[in-house]
Amino acid sequence: MRVLVFAVTIFLLFLFGVPAQASQAEPPGQKAGKYSRWFYPSQMSYGPIEDGTGNIGSGPSPGAFLTLPFMGPHYITSLFDHCYPNYTSDNRLCRYDGTTVSKSVGGIDPTFDAGFAQTPGQHDYLYYDGHDGYDYGLYYEPVAASAGGTVMLANWLDPNCHSCLSGQTIEINHGNGLLTFYGHLSQILVSKGQYVSRGQVIGISGMTGTATGPHLHWGVYKMNGGGPIDPYGWSGSYPDPWGKDIGDLWLTGSPRYAGIAMPSVSVAASSQAEDPTAIDVSWSSPGGRTRFNVYVVRQDGSMTLWRSSGAGSGVFRGSPGQRYWFWASVTTDLGWSDARGSTVVPVPVINHGEAQ
Ligand SMILES: [Zn+2]
Repeated sequence: MRVLVFAVTIFLLFLFGVPAQASQAEPPGQKAGKYSRWFYPSQMSYGPIEDGTGNIGSGPSPGAFLTLPFMGPHYITSLFDHCYPNYTSDNRLCRYDGTTVSKSVGGIDPTFDAGFAQTPGQHDYLYYDGHDGYDYGLYYEPVAASAGGTVMLANWLDPNCHSCLSGQTIEINHGNGLLTFYGHLSQILVSKGQYVSRGQVIGISGMTGTATGPHLHWGVYKMNGGGPIDPYGWSGSYPDPWGKDIGDLWLTGSPRYAGIAMPSVSVAASSQAEDPTAIDVSWSSPGGRTRFNVYVVRQDGSMTLWRSSGAGSGVFRGSPGQRYWFWASVTTDLGWSDARGSTVVPVPVINHGEAQ
Protein backbone atom coordinates (compact mmCIF):
# COMPACT_ATOMS: atom_id res chain seq x y z
CA MET A 1 0.00 0.00 0.00
CA ARG A 2 2.65 2.41 1.00
CA VAL A 3 4.59 1.62 -2.10
CA LEU A 4 1.58 2.09 -4.31
CA VAL A 5 0.56 5.36 -2.76
CA PHE A 6 4.11 6.53 -2.82
CA ALA A 7 4.54 5.54 -6.43
CA VAL A 8 1.31 7.10 -7.57
CA THR A 9 1.86 10.28 -5.69
CA ILE A 10 5.42 10.66 -6.86
CA PHE A 11 4.39 9.91 -10.40
CA LEU A 12 1.71 12.54 -10.52
CA LEU A 13 3.93 15.47 -10.01
CA PHE A 14 7.24 14.35 -11.24
CA LEU A 15 5.25 14.90 -14.40
CA PHE A 16 5.43 18.59 -13.81
CA GLY A 17 9.18 18.71 -13.47
CA VAL A 18 9.26 22.27 -12.31
CA PRO A 19 12.90 23.07 -12.98
CA ALA A 20 12.63 22.33 -16.68
CA GLN A 21 12.74 25.93 -17.71
CA ALA A 22 15.96 26.54 -15.84
CA SER A 23 18.05 25.67 -18.82
CA GLN A 24 15.77 26.82 -21.59
CA ALA A 25 15.82 30.09 -23.36
CA GLU A 26 12.57 31.70 -24.39
CA PRO A 27 11.00 29.49 -27.04
CA PRO A 28 11.22 30.77 -30.60
CA GLY A 29 8.18 32.78 -31.59
CA GLN A 30 7.07 33.41 -28.05
CA LYS A 31 5.21 36.65 -27.76
CA ALA A 32 7.05 39.46 -26.05
CA GLY A 33 5.89 40.16 -22.55
CA LYS A 34 4.50 36.73 -21.88
CA TYR A 35 5.58 35.51 -18.49
CA SER A 36 8.07 32.68 -18.65
CA ARG A 37 8.79 30.53 -15.65
CA TRP A 38 12.53 30.54 -16.18
CA PHE A 39 12.63 33.82 -14.30
CA TYR A 40 12.31 31.71 -11.16
CA PRO A 41 10.36 33.78 -8.70
CA SER A 42 11.77 33.43 -5.23
CA GLN A 43 10.39 30.39 -3.44
CA MET A 44 11.77 31.43 -0.08
CA SER A 45 11.39 34.49 2.08
CA TYR A 46 15.16 34.87 1.86
CA GLY A 47 15.46 34.77 -1.90
CA PRO A 48 15.40 32.59 -5.01
CA ILE A 49 18.84 31.06 -4.51
CA GLU A 50 19.95 28.69 -1.79
CA ASP A 51 23.48 29.83 -1.05
CA GLY A 52 23.93 28.41 2.42
CA THR A 53 23.29 31.71 4.20
CA GLY A 54 19.48 31.87 4.24
CA ASN A 55 17.83 32.48 7.58
CA ILE A 56 14.46 30.85 8.07
CA GLY A 57 13.91 32.52 11.41
CA SER A 58 13.59 29.44 13.58
CA GLY A 59 15.98 27.39 15.63
CA PRO A 60 16.91 23.75 15.22
CA SER A 61 14.71 21.11 16.77
CA PRO A 62 16.40 18.67 19.18
CA GLY A 63 16.66 16.10 16.40
CA ALA A 64 18.14 18.47 13.80
CA PHE A 65 20.66 16.66 11.60
CA LEU A 66 20.56 17.98 8.02
CA THR A 67 22.82 19.99 5.76
CA LEU A 68 22.16 20.91 2.12
CA PRO A 69 22.34 18.12 -0.48
CA PHE A 70 24.79 20.09 -2.66
CA MET A 71 27.63 22.59 -2.40
CA GLY A 72 27.54 26.05 -3.95
CA PRO A 73 24.60 28.36 -4.75
CA HIS A 74 21.59 26.89 -6.56
CA TYR A 75 18.05 27.94 -7.29
CA ILE A 76 15.23 26.52 -5.22
CA THR A 77 12.60 25.74 -7.81
CA SER A 78 9.85 24.06 -5.74
CA LEU A 79 9.07 23.73 -2.09
CA PHE A 80 7.17 21.47 0.26
CA ASP A 81 3.39 21.91 0.37
CA HIS A 82 2.11 21.63 3.93
CA CYS A 83 -1.45 21.39 2.58
CA TYR A 84 -0.93 18.71 1.42
CA PRO A 85 2.26 16.92 0.25
CA ASN A 86 0.46 14.06 -1.41
CA TYR A 87 0.68 14.96 -5.12
CA THR A 88 -3.00 15.64 -5.35
CA SER A 89 -4.27 19.06 -6.32
CA ASP A 90 -6.30 21.05 -3.83
CA ASN A 91 -5.54 24.34 -5.61
CA ARG A 92 -3.49 25.83 -2.81
CA LEU A 93 0.00 25.58 -1.39
CA CYS A 94 1.19 26.27 2.16
CA ARG A 95 4.84 27.15 2.83
CA TYR A 96 6.64 26.30 6.09
CA ASP A 97 6.31 29.90 7.30
CA GLY A 98 2.53 29.91 6.89
CA THR A 99 2.51 31.76 3.57
CA THR A 100 -0.44 30.38 1.62
CA VAL A 101 -1.13 30.81 -2.06
CA SER A 102 -4.12 29.59 -4.01
CA LYS A 103 -5.65 29.34 -7.40
CA SER A 104 -8.66 31.38 -6.33
CA VAL A 105 -6.81 34.27 -4.71
CA GLY A 106 -3.42 34.57 -6.39
CA GLY A 107 -4.20 32.81 -9.62
CA ILE A 108 -2.30 30.12 -11.45
CA ASP A 109 0.95 30.33 -13.35
CA PRO A 110 -0.25 30.10 -16.97
CA THR A 111 2.80 27.95 -17.78
CA PHE A 112 2.33 25.55 -14.86
CA ASP A 113 -1.05 25.13 -13.26
CA ALA A 114 0.26 23.81 -9.93
CA GLY A 115 1.92 27.14 -9.11
CA PHE A 116 0.00 30.05 -7.62
CA ALA A 117 0.84 33.74 -7.27
CA GLN A 118 1.43 35.31 -3.87
CA THR A 119 0.12 38.64 -5.16
CA PRO A 120 -2.94 38.64 -7.42
CA GLY A 121 -1.92 39.72 -10.91
CA GLN A 122 1.78 39.37 -10.21
CA HIS A 123 4.24 36.66 -11.20
CA ASP A 124 5.53 35.81 -7.74
CA TYR A 125 4.39 32.23 -8.05
CA LEU A 126 5.16 29.54 -5.52
CA TYR A 127 5.54 25.90 -6.63
CA TYR A 128 3.93 23.54 -6.33
CA ASP A 129 0.61 22.17 -5.15
CA GLY A 130 1.07 18.73 -3.58
CA HIS A 131 4.89 18.62 -3.74
CA ASP A 132 6.47 16.52 -0.97
CA GLY A 133 10.05 17.81 -1.03
CA TYR A 134 12.33 20.47 -2.41
CA ASP A 135 13.56 20.83 -5.98
CA TYR A 136 16.91 22.42 -6.68
CA GLY A 137 18.28 23.65 -9.98
CA LEU A 138 21.21 21.27 -10.27
CA TYR A 139 22.43 20.62 -13.80
CA TYR A 140 24.38 17.33 -13.87
CA GLU A 141 26.27 18.26 -10.70
CA PRO A 142 27.49 16.38 -7.62
CA VAL A 143 24.82 15.55 -5.04
CA ALA A 144 25.90 15.43 -1.39
CA ALA A 145 24.57 13.25 1.43
CA SER A 146 22.61 15.51 3.79
CA ALA A 147 23.87 13.60 6.83
CA GLY A 148 25.72 10.40 7.57
CA GLY A 149 23.80 7.17 7.14
CA THR A 150 23.39 3.88 5.38
CA VAL A 151 22.29 3.69 1.77
CA MET A 152 18.99 1.79 1.65
CA LEU A 153 18.21 2.34 -2.04
CA ALA A 154 20.61 3.06 -4.89
CA ASN A 155 18.73 2.10 -8.01
CA TRP A 156 15.94 2.99 -10.35
CA LEU A 157 12.87 3.65 -8.23
CA ASP A 158 11.06 1.48 -10.78
CA PRO A 159 13.72 -0.81 -12.29
CA ASN A 160 11.33 -1.71 -15.08
CA CYS A 161 10.69 1.85 -16.18
CA HIS A 162 13.53 4.31 -16.57
CA SER A 163 11.23 7.13 -17.56
CA CYS A 164 8.98 6.68 -14.54
CA LEU A 165 8.84 8.34 -11.15
CA SER A 166 12.11 9.71 -9.81
CA GLY A 167 14.30 7.56 -12.08
CA GLN A 168 17.68 6.75 -10.57
CA THR A 169 17.17 7.35 -6.87
CA ILE A 170 19.12 7.15 -3.64
CA GLU A 171 17.61 6.80 -0.18
CA ILE A 172 19.75 7.11 2.95
CA ASN A 173 18.63 5.73 6.31
CA HIS A 174 19.92 8.08 8.99
CA GLY A 175 19.15 5.79 11.90
CA ASN A 176 16.84 8.31 13.54
CA GLY A 177 13.63 7.09 11.98
CA LEU A 178 14.15 9.29 8.92
CA LEU A 179 15.46 8.85 5.41
CA THR A 180 16.58 11.37 2.82
CA PHE A 181 15.64 10.89 -0.81
CA TYR A 182 17.53 12.05 -3.92
CA GLY A 183 15.76 11.68 -7.26
CA HIS A 184 16.31 12.03 -11.04
CA LEU A 185 20.03 11.22 -10.79
CA SER A 186 22.08 10.68 -13.93
CA GLN A 187 24.69 8.66 -12.01
CA ILE A 188 24.65 6.74 -8.74
CA LEU A 189 28.04 6.55 -7.04
CA VAL A 190 27.15 4.49 -3.95
CA SER A 191 25.59 1.12 -3.36
CA LYS A 192 22.96 -0.34 -1.09
CA GLY A 193 24.26 -1.07 2.39
CA GLN A 194 27.17 1.37 2.13
CA TYR A 195 27.76 3.90 4.90
CA VAL A 196 28.10 7.45 3.62
CA SER A 197 29.34 10.56 5.41
CA ARG A 198 27.80 13.99 5.55
CA GLY A 199 28.81 15.91 2.44
CA GLN A 200 29.95 12.82 0.55
CA VAL A 201 29.25 12.83 -3.18
CA ILE A 202 26.64 10.10 -3.67
CA GLY A 203 25.64 10.74 -7.26
CA ILE A 204 25.32 13.20 -10.12
CA SER A 205 22.04 15.01 -10.67
CA GLY A 206 20.14 14.61 -13.90
CA MET A 207 16.69 14.11 -15.33
CA THR A 208 16.03 10.38 -15.22
CA GLY A 209 12.49 9.29 -14.51
CA THR A 210 9.67 11.70 -15.16
CA ALA A 211 11.31 15.09 -15.36
CA THR A 212 11.15 17.76 -18.01
CA GLY A 213 14.58 19.10 -17.14
CA PRO A 214 17.61 18.37 -14.99
CA HIS A 215 17.04 18.97 -11.30
CA LEU A 216 17.46 17.35 -7.91
CA HIS A 217 14.34 16.26 -6.06
CA TRP A 218 15.28 16.05 -2.40
CA GLY A 219 12.99 15.05 0.40
CA VAL A 220 12.86 13.80 3.97
CA TYR A 221 10.57 10.91 4.86
CA LYS A 222 9.71 8.96 7.93
CA MET A 223 10.91 5.39 7.65
CA ASN A 224 8.60 2.48 6.92
CA GLY A 225 6.15 4.46 4.86
CA GLY A 226 5.57 7.12 7.48
CA GLY A 227 5.37 9.77 4.80
CA PRO A 228 7.12 13.01 3.91
CA ILE A 229 8.03 15.73 6.37
CA ASP A 230 9.32 19.25 5.83
CA PRO A 231 12.89 19.78 7.08
CA TYR A 232 11.99 23.45 7.58
CA GLY A 233 9.37 22.40 10.12
CA TRP A 234 6.48 24.82 10.58
CA SER A 235 6.69 28.42 11.73
CA GLY A 236 3.28 29.61 10.56
CA SER A 237 0.98 31.55 12.86
CA TYR A 238 -1.68 28.87 12.54
CA PRO A 239 -1.43 25.12 13.25
CA ASP A 240 0.61 23.05 10.78
CA PRO A 241 -1.87 21.52 8.35
CA TRP A 242 0.57 18.63 7.92
CA GLY A 243 0.62 16.98 11.30
CA LYS A 244 3.58 14.69 10.63
CA ASP A 245 6.22 17.44 10.75
CA ILE A 246 8.71 17.18 13.60
CA GLY A 247 10.29 20.63 13.56
CA ASP A 248 13.19 22.43 11.95
CA LEU A 249 15.66 19.69 11.05
CA TRP A 250 18.47 21.86 9.68
CA LEU A 251 21.54 21.25 11.80
CA THR A 252 21.99 24.91 12.68
CA GLY A 253 18.35 25.91 12.28
CA SER A 254 18.78 27.14 8.71
CA PRO A 255 20.02 25.42 5.53
CA ARG A 256 23.81 25.32 5.42
CA TYR A 257 26.40 23.45 3.40
CA ALA A 258 28.14 20.50 4.97
CA GLY A 259 31.19 21.66 6.91
CA ILE A 260 33.68 19.83 4.76
CA ALA A 261 36.94 20.93 3.14
CA MET A 262 36.45 21.48 -0.58
CA PRO A 263 39.41 20.89 -2.88
CA SER A 264 41.15 23.77 -4.62
CA VAL A 265 44.27 22.76 -6.46
CA SER A 266 47.49 24.77 -6.42
CA VAL A 267 50.14 23.63 -8.87
CA ALA A 268 53.47 25.37 -9.36
CA ALA A 269 56.22 24.66 -11.87
CA SER A 270 59.54 26.40 -12.45
CA SER A 271 62.90 25.36 -13.82
CA GLN A 272 65.94 25.30 -11.61
CA ALA A 273 68.33 28.21 -12.12
CA GLU A 274 71.44 26.06 -12.17
CA ASP A 275 69.90 23.40 -14.44
CA PRO A 276 66.98 24.67 -16.58
CA THR A 277 66.15 21.14 -17.79
CA ALA A 278 65.14 20.30 -14.22
CA ILE A 279 61.63 21.57 -13.53
CA ASP A 280 60.41 21.70 -9.94
CA VAL A 281 56.72 20.86 -9.75
CA SER A 282 54.58 20.92 -6.62
CA TRP A 283 50.87 20.31 -6.07
CA SER A 284 48.55 20.67 -3.10
CA SER A 285 44.94 21.30 -2.09
CA PRO A 286 43.05 21.98 1.14
CA GLY A 287 41.36 19.04 2.78
CA GLY A 288 42.62 15.89 4.37
CA ARG A 289 42.81 12.74 2.34
CA THR A 290 43.31 13.79 -1.26
CA ARG A 291 44.47 11.88 -4.31
CA PHE A 292 46.18 13.68 -7.17
CA ASN A 293 46.89 12.85 -10.77
CA VAL A 294 49.54 15.11 -12.22
CA TYR A 295 49.93 15.21 -15.99
CA VAL A 296 52.69 16.71 -18.08
CA VAL A 297 51.51 18.56 -21.17
CA ARG A 298 54.02 19.05 -23.99
CA GLN A 299 54.00 21.70 -26.65
CA ASP A 300 52.69 19.22 -29.23
CA GLY A 301 49.59 18.98 -27.01
CA SER A 302 50.24 15.47 -25.73
CA MET A 303 49.28 14.88 -22.13
CA THR A 304 50.62 12.00 -20.11
CA LEU A 305 50.17 10.96 -16.51
CA TRP A 306 53.34 11.75 -14.59
CA ARG A 307 52.50 11.28 -10.92
CA SER A 308 49.63 9.71 -9.00
CA SER A 309 49.96 10.48 -5.32
CA GLY A 310 48.92 12.66 -2.45
CA ALA A 311 50.01 16.27 -2.24
CA GLY A 312 53.71 16.53 -2.99
CA SER A 313 56.42 17.62 -5.35
CA GLY A 314 58.83 16.23 -7.90
CA VAL A 315 61.43 17.14 -10.48
CA PHE A 316 60.52 16.73 -14.15
CA ARG A 317 63.32 16.39 -16.68
CA GLY A 318 62.64 18.46 -19.78
CA SER A 319 64.43 18.69 -23.10
CA PRO A 320 66.09 21.89 -24.31
CA GLY A 321 63.97 23.96 -26.65
CA GLN A 322 60.71 22.46 -25.39
CA ARG A 323 57.91 23.95 -23.32
CA TYR A 324 55.98 22.10 -20.62
CA TRP A 325 53.13 22.69 -18.29
CA PHE A 326 51.49 20.55 -15.67
CA TRP A 327 47.84 19.70 -15.03
CA ALA A 328 46.92 18.50 -11.54
CA SER A 329 43.54 17.00 -10.68
CA VAL A 330 42.50 16.07 -7.17
CA THR A 331 39.72 14.01 -5.62
CA THR A 332 38.96 14.10 -1.90
CA ASP A 333 37.93 11.15 0.18
CA LEU A 334 34.36 12.56 0.06
CA GLY A 335 34.39 12.51 -3.73
CA TRP A 336 34.81 16.20 -4.55
CA SER A 337 37.28 17.12 -7.25
CA ASP A 338 39.12 20.07 -8.67
CA ALA A 339 41.85 20.58 -11.25
CA ARG A 340 44.21 23.30 -12.34
CA GLY A 341 47.15 23.88 -14.65
CA SER A 342 50.55 25.35 -13.90
CA THR A 343 52.21 28.14 -15.82
CA VAL A 344 54.11 27.14 -18.95
CA VAL A 345 57.78 26.42 -18.34
CA PRO A 346 60.14 26.85 -21.32
CA VAL A 347 63.42 24.93 -21.24
CA PRO A 348 66.03 26.98 -23.06
CA VAL A 349 68.29 25.61 -25.77
CA ILE A 350 71.75 24.98 -24.34
CA ASN A 351 74.78 26.09 -26.37
CA HIS A 352 78.22 25.32 -24.97
CA GLY A 353 76.82 24.95 -21.53
CA GLU A 354 75.12 28.31 -21.49
CA ALA A 355 71.48 29.13 -21.67
CA GLN A 356 70.42 31.40 -24.51
ZN1 LIG B 1 10.40 17.41 -6.70
